[in-house]
Amino acid sequence: MNYEKLLYESRKCVLCGSCKTDCPTYELKHSEAFGPRGRMRLLYALITKEIPPTKGLYERLYSCLLCGACKRRCPAEVDIPLAFFLGRQELNRQTHIGRFMRILTRVSLSHPKSLYRVFRSLYPLLKRRLTEMRLIPEGFEFMPMYSRKVIKPSNEVKTRGRIALFVGCSVRYLQPYIADAFARVCTGMGYEVVAPGGEVCCGAPLLNSGMIKLAESFAEKNLQTYKRLEVQSVVSVCPTCVVTLGDTYRKLFGEGMEVIDSVSFLYHLLSEMPGFQIEGSAVFHDPCHALYGLMQKDTPRELLGRVGLKLKEIPEGCCGLAGTFSLSFRGLSETLLEKKKNAFSDTGAELLITSCPGCLFQLSKIISSERVFHIVEIFEEALVRNEQPGQ
Ligand code: SF4
Ligand code: SF4
Repeated sequence: MNYEKLLYESRKCVLCGSCKTDCPTYELKHSEAFGPRGRMRLLYALITKEIPPTKGLYERLYSCLLCGACKRRCPAEVDIPLAFFLGRQELNRQTHIGRFMRILTRVSLSHPKSLYRVFRSLYPLLKRRLTEMRLIPEGFEFMPMYSRKVIKPSNEVKTRGRIALFVGCSVRYLQPYIADAFARVCTGMGYEVVAPGGEVCCGAPLLNSGMIKLAESFAEKNLQTYKRLEVQSVVSVCPTCVVTLGDTYRKLFGEGMEVIDSVSFLYHLLSEMPGFQIEGSAVFHDPCHALYGLMQKDTPRELLGRVGLKLKEIPEGCCGLAGTFSLSFRGLSETLLEKKKNAFSDTGAELLITSCPGCLFQLSKIISSERVFHIVEIFEEALVRNEQPGQ
């Protein structure tokens, strides 16, 4: 079934090359095989047994960031990221190359709490080395993992209803303050926020590694967990989770979750928000899955304009995290990150704001975390200032 889907997508490609325009890896490597058209052709050659599954092929297919910038340019409507999920599954079937990384990903996502505890206890020993290697932001410290189940608005606020938060792994284990900020904004606006205990990883890292069967079992758990809830909306603070839970589940497993991202959710509340003001200048970094997956460009900018921030622009493009890409392709990842930092520095803006916890983590490796924020933190700050004028 997946094989047929892959063959179908590969055959749609007419090799026109329009998709190369915005591809970050094509731009960096100046090589057809590191761009979307070349990768699509290689995939076709792999599945039709024209070429064997070599290490070189693995490198070309796995160096794709799965950012989706190429998909929007394709006149034949090839679903390029979907083809690459399926292509990687096919590659895994034909070869053991990359097996260690896949086992690591599988074990980590199947036992995230145990991994978190082990890693947290070893962290004092590893911290210096990880910081030197630029694998974590300077000064990063583990906080207790996010485990709140229900947060109710105070009695002084008019009740609006109940929403569910899909917390996501990065926020749950590394950045629980983002979930706290989101819950605080929502409870401040009168929403009860529930975060069900049955949530598991959305499965994006599994799909990126071609482990589609395992991702399907994660999808089933999430679908069951969130179906049981009586809520008005399910919201996520991570656009990668939103795209995976909705669109990708639907395409691969036949059923997707109704979930929206925090930017769209806040935007619906915009007209009812108190008129808060934060002075200063900022750049908004578009996460790939928000820009190319959710087609979101103006919404976060309007939101930030609403709080009074003066926005400056930098060129679009991936920050270089892209899940395990930043570990497997360190050189490419660092180059993309440096480009972002330089573009941000050139604007002279004070703050760098994004709507993805992964991008936030990545950007904080190279720009002081005092200056990098998730968009929900800006609204939390604005809400605090509104409650305590004069701050
Ligand atoms: S998903 Fe991104 S990195 Fe991969 S081929 Fe498309 S544009 Fe290039
Ligand atoms: S734009 Fe679409 S049809 Fe053209 S080369 Fe890229 S994937 Fe193939």
